[in-house]
Amino acid sequence: MPGDPATPEQEVAADYVMLAVDDDPGTLLLAETFFASEGYTVATALSGAEALARIDEIAPDIILLDIIMPGMDGFEVCREIRRRPRYKNTPIIVLTSLNDTDAEQRAFAIGAWDFVAKPVRWSALAYRARFALRAAGVVAIQRSADRFARVINQSPDEILVFAADTLVLLDENISALRNLGYSKLELQGMNFAELLHNGSAQGLGGMLQQVRLHQQEKFSLQLRRKDGSVYPTEGTLLYTEDDDPSVFVAILQDTSERQRIQQELHRLAHYDEMTGLANRRLLEQQAVKLLARATRQGHRCAVCMLDLDGLRHINDTLGPAVGDGLIREVSSRLARAVRPGDLVARDESLGLESLGMQLARFGGDEFVVVLSDFSDTLDAARVADRILATIAEPCELPQGVRHSLTASMGISVYPDDGANFDVLVQRAHTAMFDAKQSGRNRYAFYTEAHNHKVFSRMQLESELRTGLQENEFELHYQPLVDSALQRVVGAECLLRWRHPDGLRYPDSFIPLAEETGLILQLGDWVLEAAVSQLSAWADQLPEPFDLSINVSALQVRDDAFLNRARELLADNPGAARHLVFELTESSLIQDMESTARWLQDLRALGVRIAIDDFGTGYSGLHYLVKLPVQTLKIDRMFVSGIDRDGEQAAVVSAIFQMARALHMEIVVEGVETREQLQIVAAMGACVVQGWLISKALPAPEFGVFIGQFPA
Ligand code: C2E
Ligand code: CA
Ligand code: CA
Repeated sequence: MPGDPATPEQEVAADYVMLAVDDDPGTLLLAETFFASEGYTVATALSGAEALARIDEIAPDIILLDIIMPGMDGFEVCREIRRRPRYKNTPIIVLTSLNDTDAEQRAFAIGAWDFVAKPVRWSALAYRARFALRAAGVVAIQRSADRFARVINQSPDEILVFAADTLVLLDENISALRNLGYSKLELQGMNFAELLHNGSAQGLGGMLQQVRLHQQEKFSLQLRRKDGSVYPTEGTLLYTEDDDPSVFVAILQDTSERQRIQQELHRLAHYDEMTGLANRRLLEQQAVKLLARATRQGHRCAVCMLDLDGLRHINDTLGPAVGDGLIREVSSRLARAVRPGDLVARDESLGLESLGMQLARFGGDEFVVVLSDFSDTLDAARVADRILATIAEPCELPQGVRHSLTASMGISVYPDDGANFDVLVQRAHTAMFDAKQSGRNRYAFYTEAHNHKVFSRMQLESELRTGLQENEFELHYQPLVDSALQRVVGAECLLRWRHPDGLRYPDSFIPLAEETGLILQLGDWVLEAAVSQLSAWADQLPEPFDLSINVSALQVRDDAFLNRARELLADNPGAARHLVFELTESSLIQDMESTARWLQDLRALGVRIAIDDFGTGYSGLHYLVKLPVQTLKIDRMFVSGIDRDGEQAAVVSAIFQMARALHMEIVVEGVETREQLQIVAAMGACVVQGWLISKALPAPEFGVFIGQFPA
């Protein structure tokens, strides 16, 4: 019916190829005519053999097959066709004149889809054929869906499907189950967010928003396994509204192996294989950052190059294996000697910002430590000492031989000795040779001045410690008298050091004692000595009598000092009312509130407080009102020129007036001449101290001095 619009059925059928197999040419002709009119392309075969021979060329979508045929019968042909995978689901409709349920059953058993008895009612057959074709289509789709599901299930990517609204998991493939360690059942009802590690879970909301917007996005996610372990993934998140409910699909790849390989490559490039320490390249990278930071903050850095002494000898005599063992031993000692947080931890995530020392092996028996963020070369020297001492500890060689290995170290200082890492390394190298030349097992700075400064101060520091141990310190007492020179009203304790080389004065050792913190021990000693001297003098002393001691800025606000004083005064109840603590202006004005509290606590012990060197430091006076201070000691500086300089006299006079207004006592220090004494005495009542009256005296002489005054 050319020209006629096709019926819907014809439209469908037009796409199909039919193979009709029958030994009866008449039936074939009818089939051909009828189904062609239905829109099929019809091919025919007069025998089973012919059908099988031509089937691939025909590629039928549906087969009509006669059962009773000479040669190969329909059963056999049917079985043969089904053997070929391509025709596994091709509908086969069997035709037979037999009205035999047995044949029917046999035909179904070997894969026929339908069974039609001859004589054929062609229009009914057409319906059955169409029905069979539709069913075959469904099967094909189902099969392809199955195949697809299988592929997805076996994909090495982890695939998770979850509901867009509730995030409840709907489907997950085998890879996902395997890596996450959950069974399908366990995941039922769980939420996608529950599979994510903290950080990833937090960002999830915003991320899904993005995916909704763009249908798909690439992401890195941290997933958490059932056992709690976390692994990194990268992949794509998809959003689809085609499903009901709308779903997200996550297709993820576990990247831990890739990361491990990257880390391994990084390790190989930046760490020394034998010792696990950083290598030169890594140290240089870090050093560049550290030098830049030191420049910003006005700090120093040092490059310390270390070379083991006599390792070659060990290699030659005991063999390289022993030498290597020693290098490893030294590496781990060095790693311990530099503070924790060092690069040796091999973990860059620690953050380099917090590091003060970094260690690397430059190859052979050469190690380099970079010290950062110090201001005094003395600090570098201390670290160098510590490192050399660690290396020098004896170690066990094979056959139970104990050996003390030593090292020589050269130190260059940034920015003094060089502006970049390479120069600093060169100079440290030069200094290291100097250290070797001058006898090994020592360090040397590149700059001679550093050597000198450091060595003399290191020596002084160790002498100070010995001095404390050996009781080389003593107090001298400088008398304080009233301005009419009638009475001795007190004394100031001044520290003296009876050093084996001669008597030393505070200015030569107090600054270092303060820098090193030794002043705290020294200060405790002074307090104890003063208190015990008070009880030794007991009733020899005039009344009233003030014994003042100097308190270092480091002791101010130090509760340990406060407690020490409290204990001591509890044991010596008579001492407190004689004691005056002298503090300098500058040590008081920082952190006024806690200073005031600390001073109140001190006052509560029954002692008094004086401001030393008054007038030299802070010019404001408001702080005086806030602090529990009873005495001002006017600095020597104002007194020295008071007889020649009218302005200085005016300042002293002003201080007098102010002190009077605040009901404070005044001590005038450094009175050396009668003129000076007369001028200050004319300004008002005060206590005077100075060489005019006496220098500081050892305790026995001070006793004699007191005896000269009327009791
Ligand atoms: P300072 O507290 O101002 O002590 C007064 C200093 O002036 C003493 O020096 C004293 O010998 C000196 N002096 C006293 N009268 C005169 C004078 O008429 N003319 C001159 N030119 N000088 C005079 P000294 O004993 O060398 O002490 C120096 C500084 O050392 C002290 O200054 C004090 O700040 C500190 N110091 C002394 N003993 C101690 C102590 O036990 N602990 C602490 N932390 N510091 C102390
Ligand atoms: Ca003083
Ligand atoms: Ca003073």
